[in-house]
Amino acid sequence: MSRIAYVNGQYVPRRHAAVHIEDRGYQFSDGVYEVCEVREGRLVDQRRHIERLVRSLGELRIKLPMPLSALNVVLHEVVARNRIKNGIVYVQVTRGVARRDHPFPPPSTKPAIVVTANALDAAKAETMAAEGVAVITLPDNRWERVDIKAIALLPNILAKQAAREQGAREAWYVDKENRITEGSSSNAWIVTHDGKVVTRQADHGILKGITRAVVIDVLRAQGLELEERAFTVEEAYAAREAFLTSASQLVMPVIRINDRPVGNGAPGLVSAALRRDFHRYAGLS
Ligand code: PMP
Repeated sequence: MSRIAYVNGQYVPRRHAAVHIEDRGYQFSDGVYEVCEVREGRLVDQRRHIERLVRSLGELRIKLPMPLSALNVVLHEVVARNRIKNGIVYVQVTRGVARRDHPFPPPSTKPAIVVTANALDAAKAETMAAEGVAVITLPDNRWERVDIKAIALLPNILAKQAAREQGAREAWYVDKENRITEGSSSNAWIVTHDGKVVTRQADHGILKGITRAVVIDVLRAQGLELEERAFTVEEAYAAREAFLTSASQLVMPVIRINDRPVGNGAPGLVSAALRRDFHRYAGLS
């Protein structure tokens, strides 16, 4: 079966799918994206992901490429045409194709859109969650508007590569006050010894994760106490548990930070319970 991508109005075989060399996404990373989990062929929390896409576009003054009802159809169509049961759907919108020049192109320039879908190995993810993952910490060297889900991800790529080269799954960024902001592609959490679940407040210093929002609903329903505040690297070392969240990894236990074991060095009960209950609180469409 050939894989299909949606590119600017057309469903095309992935191997022929292409964007213009003067697409501002290609030239300047002048665009935004979203990643939504696909579960049993349905989109998880699509509404919140699309709301965030609309917000990211608005912050950068990029127009919506199509009405939201049409976008909804395209997302489902790409998932269906690729017969994705479990995986992700990816949507990227850029400011469009124009002669390479830094200022915004003429207002008549149409935004460009690409939608793809990929299967993920659910069994492999469950194995990883059962074992837990390691993270490293790095100085946060990104711009101040990481609340916008921009496709400009150079610092994130370098951080993730550094993590992989040190045998870790993720890199957690640390701000100038030695407090963790978030991961290179996930939000960061700890559970304190008195059982409080802590994650950084969603200001301009982190991406307001959709998984993060759902996990907040889950932990409240489980009767856990949430603290939305910054926490230091030392607090994370001393935590009872740590975990990260993202649409593609859900709740992933963190068992090592910079080679120091977190808690007893195994995935914690809170992380496991949040992961187990996650889809009861996530929307499906
Ligand atoms: N922070 C960053 C920097 C990310 O790239 C992601 C993943 N897109 C997240 C947090 C988690 O967001 P979500 O739960 O919406 O996937």
